[in-house]
Amino acid sequence: MSKAHELHQEAVVIDGHCDTILSVMTRGSWFGSRSRDFFERDEDGHIDLPRLLEGGITCQVMALYIEPQYKPAASARRCLEMLDAFYSLLDQSEQFVMATKVQDILDAKAGGKVAGLLSIEGGEAIEGSLSALRNFYRLGVRAMGLTWNQRNDLADGVGEKSAKSGLTDLGISVVKEMEKLGMLVDVSHLSESSFWGVHEVADRPYIASHSNAQALASHPRNLTDKQIEALASKGGVIGVVFCPPFVDDDRENVTLSRVCDHIDHIKKVAGIDHVGLGSDFDGFGVSPGSPQVMKDVSEMPKLTEELLRRGYTEEEVKKVLGGNWLRVYKEVIG
Ligand SMILES: [Zn+2]
Repeated sequence: MSKAHELHQEAVVIDGHCDTILSVMTRGSWFGSRSRDFFERDEDGHIDLPRLLEGGITCQVMALYIEPQYKPAASARRCLEMLDAFYSLLDQSEQFVMATKVQDILDAKAGGKVAGLLSIEGGEAIEGSLSALRNFYRLGVRAMGLTWNQRNDLADGVGEKSAKSGLTDLGISVVKEMEKLGMLVDVSHLSESSFWGVHEVADRPYIASHSNAQALASHPRNLTDKQIEALASKGGVIGVVFCPPFVDDDRENVTLSRVCDHIDHIKKVAGIDHVGLGSDFDGFGVSPGSPQVMKDVSEMPKLTEELLRRGYTEEEVKKVLGGNWLRVYKEVIG
């Protein structure tokens, strides 16, 4: 076994974001009507349990993504439907377990299992209710992005170009309640002004589960160096994303190496303790033959190879693969 392979096998590997729950649901998916079987190895899409195991993933964060057609009035119902789909995956296999604390992730590693950690993508899901937020926490949700791309009653998403708002009063209450509960506030889809709104009120580390560096690719969801520094100053982590427009403005330059340039950049700006993985697998498609970061999650060991090739120490590689996520999870969710 190569050194890279051995290191990858040994490491706790955490991917901070995917949209796979949508892919295994039968209705409502924007990826067409075919739902995939999570327990069968497929060539379509990026993630299923066999490919998570091949890719050496210890913990996969799974988004409960509220699609626009459910907003605002049916957002909580839709989130509950997605939770039901996740729980039904748990019912079908001993090898896939839920993580609600760091120990669950470590136990999964020790037992050769894959843990799923739940994150809401779009604060519409709580329909303005702190009680609903607390109930989602009770059901196992440990992170939430306050918005997707639209503006909502908590904050502005990145698609809101004009308002330039921070957080609403309700948004501030939600951040405070999440910190009290032990939930991670995810800024990945926020507008820049709302990002600074979170930064101002956050007492705990907050995260960007799937964003890259704007210095290398101009996508508005990527973070400026100032944002990267600010997030790191509170102890947070940025998960680098593999979705092509976030990787490089020129689609021809979309490669695994280019993703590692983002890791290098975040390391340079904020230090090695603030960068992790946030693939966004099953949240995007790549047309056949187009350049891509990797075919699917089974190829994740290639990232370890590339980081070692670039001179990262074993300790640094382990931090990027999952150690940094573990640190921030320990601090916030316990
Ligand atoms: Zn997203």
